[in-house]
Amino acid sequence: MKAVIKRKPEPGIEIADIEKPKAGPRDILVKVKATAYCGSDIHLYKWDGQALKWNAPLPKILGHEFCGDVIEIGDSVRTIKVGDIIACETHIPCEKCYYCKTGRMHICESMRIFGCHTAEGSFAEYTVIPETIAYKLPEGTSYEEGALYEPCGVAMHAVQRAHPEPGDTSVVLGCGPIGIYAQQIMNSLGSKVVATDVKDYRLDFAKKIGAAREVINASDGDVISKVKSILGNRGADIVFEAAGTIETIKQSLEIVANCGKVVLFGACPDNPTLDTSSFIVYKEIDVLGMTGRYMFSTWDRVQRLVSDKKVNLSSVISHKLPLEKAEEGFQMIMKGEASKIILLP
Ligand SMILES: [Zn+2]
Ligand SMILES: [Zn+2]
Repeated sequence: MKAVIKRKPEPGIEIADIEKPKAGPRDILVKVKATAYCGSDIHLYKWDGQALKWNAPLPKILGHEFCGDVIEIGDSVRTIKVGDIIACETHIPCEKCYYCKTGRMHICESMRIFGCHTAEGSFAEYTVIPETIAYKLPEGTSYEEGALYEPCGVAMHAVQRAHPEPGDTSVVLGCGPIGIYAQQIMNSLGSKVVATDVKDYRLDFAKKIGAAREVINASDGDVISKVKSILGNRGADIVFEAAGTIETIKQSLEIVANCGKVVLFGACPDNPTLDTSSFIVYKEIDVLGMTGRYMFSTWDRVQRLVSDKKVNLSSVISHKLPLEKAEEGFQMIMKGEASKIILLP
């Protein structure tokens, strides 16, 4: 089968013809029909500090956000059958630790991430995953939509963490695909949403999708007063920090109203220095972290909003490419010339 492979600990990828994987007793073999690029794939492509932190095995196949047809199941598989259309919950919990045993598998102590910690990945014609992380999609789901349940789930989980109340105003800092999904989800709850970004390409995408009431170009400066002129001087009830920069983390604490909530879900590689007294203690705000998705209540919620047409999963797709053109996709993302790119193996 054809696959996008990284063989050496250096930047780049190659397209190779390799042996089709085999399903173990608790695994399922999937014919990958659509798979999306994620920020993690860029780290692996560049082989940067984050890729080293994952200690990714080499050689390895890239990709983890995907959807496909189940074509073979292991002997012990009970919940998935051949012919099912599935998406992949990329976090592989150990099923043994305290958190796994107490209903919080998404925060497992020994979490492995499919496509990062595994040699298997989804940028290939076939892939193998454990039954535990397969999410059966409803009939009629398109493969491209199916591949985007996972990133949309990150936005859904962020909203779940914030427990929004009726009439809450919100700001989403970052108009990447996950930021745009967060805007759509908050809009579906009736929140007045303001979005920011610094890249014209992303701002145009957010404007076109139209889930945010106002879209602010943060590179023009003065984000705080611009947000306040739209939402009022108190600031926002909830701020979603989906950009992962020191600048946007600081903005989130300034934009949030007293007693409001800030959800941090943009992974920030640099450690910000924060004035916690002025911005957290005396404002009495809740700062919430989050990772992955609740397994699987987040997925069910995404499914409901998608079927009610409150969230348009494919709205964030900017390009579709055949597997052979994977290199082109990496280049477009690194140049900031794409939103979500889908590979069609
Ligand atoms: Zn991802
Ligand atoms: Zn565990």
